[in-house]
Amino acid sequence: MLLKHANKCRAWAQVYVGNKYFHGVNGFALDKEKGLKLIEESADQQAAILGQPGAQEELATAYNFRRNNEQEQILHYATLAASHGNSRACGVLGHFFMRAECGLAESLILGKHYSEKYFEDGRSDPCNPVSAFNLSLVLYRLGLDRFERISHPIILFWARRALKGDPTVETNDLVIKIISMVEKEAKSHCTNSRKEAGSSPLKRCIRLLGAWYCGKECQVQHWKAGHKFDCIKS
Ligand SMILES: [Zn+2]
Ligand SMILES: [Zn+2]
Repeated sequence: MLLKHANKCRAWAQVYVGNKYFHGVNGFALDKEKGLKLIEESADQQAAILGQPGAQEELATAYNFRRNNEQEQILHYATLAASHGNSRACGVLGHFFMRAECGLAESLILGKHYSEKYFEDGRSDPCNPVSAFNLSLVLYRLGLDRFERISHPIILFWARRALKGDPTVETNDLVIKIISMVEKEAKSHCTNSRKEAGSSPLKRCIRLLGAWYCGKECQVQHWKAGHKFDCIKS
């Protein structure tokens, strides 16, 4: 037990110090190779002894940063960490699946699955702009033909979350684009009855701002039919 504890501490210390070397911060001289070696040792040790996924995820990230195209290693450690429930690794895998990166074939379903897994962990940043953007994008792409009726409010919810999370300029522009496309689509038809918007514009659900109705009756009907569950204040 004591030995296990000591090993755990050593592994965490290694990953901590390795991280500092890798990024050259907190007074540690920048040494990517040395940092990576420490993280690597720690990841293998932790995987063997405790199955601690933190170091594995660190390692996947470190390989990714090094940009030596070490796809197998990145994928190996990200998958290992994700299978041990590391939410950041899930976010990374979701990103890869959506863009067919790191040697993976594109899968929107898996992109959605892993991006959702990231947010299921209560310790995750609820406004992580990359994962929130990924989720809105993947739902938008899936929604184009499959879940047309339910997707608009949820896509808008995650897109707005992404905006809250201080995204990069590039991501910000893409998020704005998604929001305006989805809003345009959404407000052309009543979310409940699918009746087309006539001369008078549809009324917007004031809570989520993601659903539009031709009248009070439709709003109440839709609320009871399940909108009360997906109308989360974003
Ligand atoms: Zn209606
Ligand atoms: Zn609503």
